[in-house]
Amino acid sequence: RAQAGAVNIQLTKAAQHAGLHFAPDPSSQGACTIGGNVAENSGGPHTLKYGVTVNHVTGLQVVLPDGEVLELGGVEDEPFGYDWVGLMVGSEGTLAIVTEVTARLTPLPQGVRTLLAVFETLEDATQTVSDIIAAGIIPAALELMDGLTLQAVEAAFGYGFPLDAEAVLLIELDGLEVELDEERERVEAICGRHRAREVRRAQTPQERAKLWAARKKAIGALGRLAPSCVTQDGVIPRSKLPQVLREAFQIAARYNLQLANVFHAGDGNLHPVLLFDDADAEQVARVVEAGEAILELCLREGGSLTGEHGIGVEKCALMHQMFSTSDLDTMKRVKAIFNPRDQLNPEKMFPDTRYCYESKKRLRRAAMGL
Ligand SMILES: Cc1cc2nc3c(=O)[nH]c(=O)nc-3n(C[C@H](O)[C@H](O)[C@H](O)COP(=O)(O)OP(=O)(O)OC[C@H]3O[C@@H](n4cnc5c(N)ncnc54)[C@H](O)[C@@H]3O)c2cc1C
Repeated sequence: RAQAGAVNIQLTKAAQHAGLHFAPDPSSQGACTIGGNVAENSGGPHTLKYGVTVNHVTGLQVVLPDGEVLELGGVEDEPFGYDWVGLMVGSEGTLAIVTEVTARLTPLPQGVRTLLAVFETLEDATQTVSDIIAAGIIPAALELMDGLTLQAVEAAFGYGFPLDAEAVLLIELDGLEVELDEERERVEAICGRHRAREVRRAQTPQERAKLWAARKKAIGALGRLAPSCVTQDGVIPRSKLPQVLREAFQIAARYNLQLANVFHAGDGNLHPVLLFDDADAEQVARVVEAGEAILELCLREGGSLTGEHGIGVEKCALMHQMFSTSDLDTMKRVKAIFNPRDQLNPEKMFPDTRYCYESKKRLRRAAMGL
């Protein structure tokens, strides 16, 4: 059991001596809390194989707005009846405050192979992603960093990433030792078919740790390129990665903004990062518009408004583009059962609330320098 305020990485560190870990590993895992992971149903690079928080939580202690404490689920999965734990996970703090979490820990894999594949074009990298999955291989992680991200990471940490590549894939395979070398060769062959310039193998645990540190610190490193950056979070069908990324760059160009991409490519979870200067109101306005245009693109292509960062305040106005009025009304009725006076996170998730409208107005006013 973990207290809601425990930092994600602490849980994994505490379990390591027993050969276990907490599988959801957000890139923010050095700072984010287990309670926040439950609220957002967070994932991470290893979600592709291991799933998101809801797959790793069997019980919750929560407090309702009137102070009532509920124990939901337990050490075993809930045997029958409503899945209260499933309802709470991902509810963004709008139903109850999570105070304690019973987590299902996952054995550390017997073996791991970590590869860095370097591509001349983003298109080749994204086609490789689709083909790896189409070949029936489920890597533990399949992450993409584009050229601009590589420049930022390299400037910050000097890991030796190629500065002239359009993209790299960080590919991790794990499982039984006996299977891994063959699987790695299959993945390397697919990379080769898509003209990978080079596929580097992490030869030691230290090299693997270095690659992961680069990936997990990439968004922080992007802070070197501009005074501010905003990370969007949308999902698209994996097969549409090449087209959607192309269109996302077109959107950024239309709004005269720099765009970097560092994301969970294996599950089509995009993180387009828009770079800007938040002291310039006109730039802020363009960032707001461009971010919305990218999310609308994800929806048009059959995707979702969020993969793991949630809706929060920022995206509540877009909810009606993804859900019908009756879907949203049903969600609000569920919220009213637990949080009838809207005391918990009243400004989050739902469109057309006073808060959503006002926060939108505030953003626009700030953008216009008013
Ligand atoms: C650089 C960076 C990288 C990231 N990478 C990932 C990633 O790989 N995968 C991913 O899923 N997310 C990622 N995130 C998003 C974020 O870190 C996660 O969603 C994380 O789980 C949020 O946890 P937190 O403790 O920071 O929550 P906060 O940001 O403090 O809160 C998030 C929301 O949860 C609610 N909340 C927090 N605690 C509780 C509680 N105990 N009970 C009820 N509601 C609560 C808050 O009210 C708020 O609405 C990233 C963020 C950053 C900045």
